Amino acid sequence: MSKTRKTFKYRLYPRRNQTVILEGQFGLCCELYNAGFPRFRARARYHSLSYPQLGFAIEGDHLKLSKVGLVKIKLHRPIEGQIKTLTVKREAGKWYACFSVEVESVPMAYCSENVGVDVGLTHFATLSDGSEIENPRHYRMAQSALRIAQRKVARRKKGSHGMLAKSVSDAGWSAFIAKLAYKAENAGRVLVKVDPRGTSQTCLCGASVPKTLSQRWHECSVCGLSAPRDHVSAQLILRLGLSLQAPRAAVAFA
Ligand SMILES: [Zn+2]
Repeated sequence: MSKTRKTFKYRLYPRRNQTVILEGQFGLCCELYNAGFPRFRARARYHSLSYPQLGFAIEGDHLKLSKVGLVKIKLHRPIEGQIKTLTVKREAGKWYACFSVEVESVPMAYCSENVGVDVGLTHFATLSDGSEIENPRHYRMAQSALRIAQRKVARRKKGSHGMLAKSVSDAGWSAFIAKLAYKAENAGRVLVKVDPRGTSQTCLCGASVPKTLSQRWHECSVCGLSAPRDHVSAQLILRLGLSLQAPRAAVAFA
């Protein structure tokens, strides 16, 4: 079993005198910081303070902080795992306690289901079961990467759609793939990355169905399959992933 870090954040309700002490501690940190760096930094910039493991304890609905005392805390959900550090923060006038904890990641139960994932520009990801996933943050990243790539390609003039697609996937999806691989490992799942070349130009029956980048629909004249382009790609990706992997839970990804 591997270990992962999680953060649990709770509202703190310090009394007026406790607020003064906390602000004083922020100020002290500021002075110490200024000792190492000979330039002036505004005191107001320091809005968080980290406590070592011995500097705090939870006592009922209070958080005991060294030199501050018992501060009311709203534990709206239980803390899981082993607490490693505490950071007290002030954000927009509100006080928070952020506990960084270490948790054992428990592999999920065996699952015979497999899914193919096709990442694209129309939808952030299309799964082999036909569902489409939008992730606004990653999608925006991909979109801005696309704009940059388009400018580069426009400058080069002779740029191909292959080069464009590569720039986009490299810049926009690498963070997503890294996160997915990490999540899959923690959950005891297998992530298989496959070479997506040809998956948008082939039918499930094996026939070649050439499409330009703007053609979003797959229409096979051999077997009659008519479906969204990315959905067909995701199914081909799944097939590729399974062919590369021993028969157990696999996630094929391109
Ligand atoms: Zn076909």
